[in-house]
Amino acid sequence: VADSADAVLLGLDPEQREVATSLDGPVCVLAGAGTGKTRAITHRIAYGVRSGRMMPASVLAVTFTNRAAGEMRGRLRTLGAEGVQARTFHSAALRQLQYFWPRAVGGELPRLVERKVQLVAEAGARCRVRLDRNELRDVTGEIEWAKVTQTVPADYPAAARKAGREAPRDMAEIAHVYGMYEQLKRDRGMIDFEDVLLLTVGILQDRHDIAETVRSQYRHFVVDEYQDVSPLQQRLLELWLGDRDSLCVVGDASQTIYSFTGATPDHLLDFRHRYPQATVVKLVRDYRSTPQVVHLANGLLGQAAGRAAEHRLELVSQREPGPDPVYAEYPDEPAEAEGTARRIRDLIDAGVPAGEIAVLFRINAQSEVYEQALADAGVPYQLRGAERFFERQEVRAAMLTLRGAARSAGNDPLLDDVVELAAQVRAVLSSTGWSAEPPAGSGAVRDRWESLAAVARLAEDLARSRPGATLADFVTELEERAAAQHAPTVQGVTLASLHAAKGLEWDAVFLVGLTDGMVPITYAKTDEQVEEERRLLYVGVTRARVHLTLSWALSRSPGGRASRRPSRFLNGLRPGSTAPGRVAAGELGGRRHARRGPVHCRVCGKTLTDAGELKLMRCDDCPSDMDEGLYERLREWRSVQAKELGQPAYCVFTDK
Ligand code: ATP
Ligand code: MG
Repeated sequence: VADSADAVLLGLDPEQREVATSLDGPVCVLAGAGTGKTRAITHRIAYGVRSGRMMPASVLAVTFTNRAAGEMRGRLRTLGAEGVQARTFHSAALRQLQYFWPRAVGGELPRLVERKVQLVAEAGARCRVRLDRNELRDVTGEIEWAKVTQTVPADYPAAARKAGREAPRDMAEIAHVYGMYEQLKRDRGMIDFEDVLLLTVGILQDRHDIAETVRSQYRHFVVDEYQDVSPLQQRLLELWLGDRDSLCVVGDASQTIYSFTGATPDHLLDFRHRYPQATVVKLVRDYRSTPQVVHLANGLLGQAAGRAAEHRLELVSQREPGPDPVYAEYPDEPAEAEGTARRIRDLIDAGVPAGEIAVLFRINAQSEVYEQALADAGVPYQLRGAERFFERQEVRAAMLTLRGAARSAGNDPLLDDVVELAAQVRAVLSSTGWSAEPPAGSGAVRDRWESLAAVARLAEDLARSRPGATLADFVTELEERAAAQHAPTVQGVTLASLHAAKGLEWDAVFLVGLTDGMVPITYAKTDEQVEEERRLLYVGVTRARVHLTLSWALSRSPGGRASRRPSRFLNGLRPGSTAPGRVAAGELGGRRHARRGPVHCRVCGKTLTDAGELKLMRCDDCPSDMDEGLYERLREWRSVQAKELGQPAYCVFTDK
């Protein structure tokens, strides 16, 4: 047994081995991107199982995405540790909830809300609060935040104000919509994504008998991406643990990118205070990326501020040198998308598989122009984390049919047991007119076929990973994925938001749309929010193994005014840019004079360091067209500057 367990330790460095072999008591791994945190914990579980010190069924590994969970299950299988539960907080909670609902509440678990934004819109309409598309997204975000921080509608305004939330509407109005949304859900017998955690926590808190049953099953807990744990997830973890301490957490404070949902790296950074007996391990060898990519990642973090930045560790690449990162500036967005698609074609022609390439952007709305450009270039692609897949009509219809079939199969144990779970799914899909052969050509018919083919492939994956899984298991899996908006993968170029890309890696990564205003995004106002945007870029950069391209477009559409500038986070890093913090002489529009002291935004007074901002004497967050009031402040600013400099300050604007 010992030999077979030791085999799992091959391929780990000494620090990773320490993680893998520390099976008693709490363990905390603090380390940067690509240092093998996920690998270390996967091997730890395998070591525990193969050495006989952990029963597979008593281990619960919590990852951030369903894809990461699937990958971990696959890795564990190859390492000879089958039967371990690797899930997201959400899917682990959903499973437990389904299991305990009849005992705790009675009846069947309510259906999951599939179109949350639509329900929020309906709630808004009932409260006579008209919300445009952006407001709808932001109000939905506020409701989610309120729920994960366990804030009820009546308390939302006070709590949101205290937390410094930038609410898109009057906070009392949002509270009203939030209350109505909850009522609609109740009336229709539905629960949403956040309810799954809330209800599980509630039941485990109130029902000691149920909590004890869960605790007797799970004895060892491993949590990946712990820096982004929300208060509610932390609470759930504590309830699972009870008074035991077989807990191993890994994370990188510099990758905290979900604080808008209430997540905080404090749990990670305070772990050793909470558990003074914890084994704390740091990893610094970066196994993922070339020295060039690592250099850029270190450079980005070198400019970071805040608590997360205080804990950063300089990464050291273990890979052969590769190409330098490419910085590409385009006149407009369609040109950027086309140029990106062209580069991707070149990479594919040079032998990089499409599945090893990703295009990452800040917000999902940016994906459309890339979908178009890739389709035009004949490159297969898949959207990750986008709502699309499960919103597609054919997928929704197929899920309904499958659910129906699973119910009747459930009443017929013979059918459920004997027929294999991929063949059954194909049979059900065929009954809706789908055939295993793809239709000729492209377009909508082909698109619909592709979606259903992806559903069939999912069934095959499940059959492989869980032999004996029934149709009902498959439907549950589909519903979990739908709730988590986790679309199935195809072997194409991945299009994903930076948020959805965490934990993943590709040979070639294209970070697109890197303008100031997108990264950092305009609504990041406070220093903390801007720092989170920087970390988001760090997450993006560190997804690349070899090829990294960073691009931006100077205007939105062809022929438009070139009003955009590259992300301020690249200043001092991309060639030809001024390092932040240093003010160059003559930056104020032609006349050269040495500057003393900092230059401030003429509108809000923020200290300026970016060359472009200095030229305009305006920070990027402030409006460009000045009204009388702003003009007055400009005059005032000039006189102050004149006094400070002892000479008239040069101004890019002329007097009226
Ligand atoms: P992230 O912070 O992005 O989640 P991570 O710290 O979890 O990164 P992993 O994904 O575990 O890093 O590892 C990054 C890559 O390096 C993977 O491809 C992994 O297989 C590889 N790797 C990790 N450790 C080693 C090692 N000791 N020897 C060789 N390759 C390794
Ligand atoms: Mg990881």
